[in-house]
Amino acid sequence: VSKIEAGAMEMADEVVDIGDIIRASLKMINERAERAGVDLKTEIPAGLPPLRGDSLRLKQICLNLLGNAVKFTPPKGRVTVKAGVRNGGGLFVTVKDTGVGIAEEDLERVTEPFTQGSAGINRTYEGTGLGLALVKSLAELHQGSLEIESQPGRGTEVTVFFPKERTIHPN
Ligand code: ADP
Repeated sequence: VSKIEAGAMEMADEVVDIGDIIRASLKMINERAERAGVDLKTEIPAGLPPLRGDSLRLKQICLNLLGNAVKFTPPKGRVTVKAGVRNGGGLFVTVKDTGVGIAEEDLERVTEPFTQGSAGINRTYEGTGLGLALVKSLAELHQGSLEIESQPGRGTEVTVFFPKERTIHPN
């Protein structure tokens, strides 16, 4: 995170299939989800436009979001990953869970480095409080943004949005 803040992060400029990145990330998280009793689901339509970005960092984004979703979702819960094109262009990736949620007063803070919501602070859940800060910084390095919606006790939906300048359109 400090490297990114110092502007010292070198980014690869690759053409990536975000569906491939999501599927690779899901493979890595699958065993953890099984152990946690959490069901993993995907909704990724065919024919998404390719994205210009750094494949390793994009995978890091997906892994962090999936890791959090699995960590903060009790057994028998579900994590759903969606990707798609927004009206007006641009690509989104959403990781939605049916977990513990984030209190409204914590929503603004959880993307700051070393910050945990009350669910993290009470030590029921291990963590460093760096995951979401890293996701936000990595998204911004792709001119993207991070959106978080949550209902305590019901679940959380975290979306990374990449503007249309980052997608490649067929002509
Ligand atoms: P960590 O998971 O290491 O604590 P993060 O930066 O990834 O740190 O997340 C910060 C805090 O945001 C977490 O401690 C937790 O309170 C909250 N959080 C993040 N993702 C979720 C989620 N999917 N469901 C509920 N709370 C979450």
